[in-house]
Amino acid sequence: MALIVQKYGGTSVGSVERIQTVAQRIHRTVQQGNTVVVVVSAMGKTTDTLVSLAQEITANPSRREMDMLLSTGEQVTIALMTMALQEIGQAAISLTGAQVGIVTEAEHSRARILSIKPDRIKRHLDKAEVVVVAGFQGISSVEDLEITTLGRGGSDTSAVALAASLKASFCEIYTDVPGILTTDPRLVPEARLMEEITCDEMLELASLGAKVLHPRAVEIARNYGVPLVVRSSWSEAPGTRVISPIPKPRSLEGLELTKAVDGVEFDRDQAKIALLRVPDHPGIAARLFGEIAHQQVDVDLIIQSIHEGNSNDIAFTVIKNVLSKAEAVAEAIAPALRSTPSNVTEAEVMVETGVAKISIAGAGMIGRPGIAAKMFKTLAQANINIEMISTSEVKVSCVVAKEDGDRAIAVLCEAFNVQLSPNPVATNAVAMSPPVRGVALDMKQAQIAIRHVKDKPGMAASIFGVLADNNISVDTIIQSQRCRILAGMPTRDIAFTVAQGEVEAACTALNRLADGFDEVIVDDDIAKVSIVGAGMVGQPGVAAKFFTALAQEKINIKMIATSEIKISCVVPKEEGVKALKAVHHGFELAGIETVEVPA
Ligand code: ADP
Ligand code: ASP
Ligand code: MG
Repeated sequence: MALIVQKYGGTSVGSVERIQTVAQRIHRTVQQGNTVVVVVSAMGKTTDTLVSLAQEITANPSRREMDMLLSTGEQVTIALMTMALQEIGQAAISLTGAQVGIVTEAEHSRARILSIKPDRIKRHLDKAEVVVVAGFQGISSVEDLEITTLGRGGSDTSAVALAASLKASFCEIYTDVPGILTTDPRLVPEARLMEEITCDEMLELASLGAKVLHPRAVEIARNYGVPLVVRSSWSEAPGTRVISPIPKPRSLEGLELTKAVDGVEFDRDQAKIALLRVPDHPGIAARLFGEIAHQQVDVDLIIQSIHEGNSNDIAFTVIKNVLSKAEAVAEAIAPALRSTPSNVTEAEVMVETGVAKISIAGAGMIGRPGIAAKMFKTLAQANINIEMISTSEVKVSCVVAKEDGDRAIAVLCEAFNVQLSPNPVATNAVAMSPPVRGVALDMKQAQIAIRHVKDKPGMAASIFGVLADNNISVDTIIQSQRCRILAGMPTRDIAFTVAQGEVEAACTALNRLADGFDEVIVDDDIAKVSIVGAGMVGQPGVAAKFFTALAQEKINIKMIATSEIKISCVVPKEEGVKALKAVHHGFELAGIETVEVPA
């Protein structure tokens, strides 16, 4: 007999009929000899409706009152679901987050779970009752027992956290699509269902806009080794398994307060090639990386920064022993770029061999604004200059001078209290993964560029420090390659993306930093398209294929940032969906049938 946690999302319980259908499924699961804990979301679009109601009253509701309001949605569903179960003869009881002891931080609207006291649930399970729990909500541990919520989409996190603390056999996330697909089937109906995906890949996809799973739910599943399945509540099909490696045993106390950083990674055998002042029009990146892939050269980090005038800089790193090949390609292409009529300045190739890449990695950094800032500050305090920055949702990588490498490792390991991890590229952990597992689109971000930041240790630290102090979560950060000498001081541009709602706060915070840069430029007309796949490690040509798919549709790339298992491109917003479709098609990810999605 298995203990199963089943979570049903908003659409799955969107009407009385749906609740009755789901009650039948739960009842069947019990009759098959299982013990069942159910987690439910608010019905249909209830949470959105509640948000709109608040907005009719104030543009700026307090986070506490929003939690009080939004947590009511789930409470309606638990009562109705329990009634539906009782009506068909299934013993059941509804419980709120507080009643099942989901204790969280006192951080309204994005609380992390600290612990769950499973005793009460166990008592009811022992009486052969189904326990129906309100997802998305918890209670703070301070005397005042504040009602908190976990952030939008957080019921997934409630479910996996309950599964971890009850040591359930597995956790099933029931939703309105057949499982995890190669992309959002609402945008690309020919998206293909995956049988399985690794936790690392799903973490990236979820944080890059695939809302089918809350990234924190994936993080808990990975940390505690909870077997996780995403399935449709409309069918009996098996859905998608989210695979995690066997984790080290860990305490259930501080459940979501895991270390933000799991390890420091270091790669000293890198060389950096930069093409400066290449024309800013579609097809340039595709051509460059196409030629490089043709030579079977695998590129590691790729960064294309914000452009100035009508030219861009593209920088990338390769392992040192293929440098000469890569450099030859870049040199061969540069003259052709120079002859482009739109290119007023001359394209130039710059090579630097004495560089090392140092990264901090860990899923715990998602939604924690201070982690990247702490890395930059730690390097600054050791007087180490950062030449290039590229981030993913679960990793921050900096390129530094090679001679600073050992010191960088030492100070970072100490600051984050972790050890040097084996080089992920060398261990090639997931040899079985395809180069591209899925494609995601995020239309809810804006790009902020900071112009002419003084190129000296400490600048990135103070910029991202002040953002972190203001609780602003920064996403893809890139630091440009081009160095401009202004008043005798070398400067570089730094760009990053943030949630659209945080742009104003970010600009206010940055403008308070009086010294160190010239201006802050906001572009909220952007979409971020990303490909994710653990199998892209060590595979030449993946980036080239991505850029070619965009070039064929004449979509201009505004920014590129990569990590080992993902590549993100920022494109103009109105091209977002077109870009998603082109890339999905370019990697031949389409399935045979189109996916039907309930309205
Ligand atoms: P629930 O209410 O069940 O939690 P959500 O709306 O939060 O459902 O998440 C399911 C939705 O996620 C799907 O309807 C789909 O539009 C969207 N989605 C985005 N990317 C993907 C993907 N890669 N695979 C499946 N669904 C996706
Ligand atoms: N009802 C909440 C939301 O809409 C939580 C969830 O559905 O996961 O965000
Ligand atoms: Mg959801």
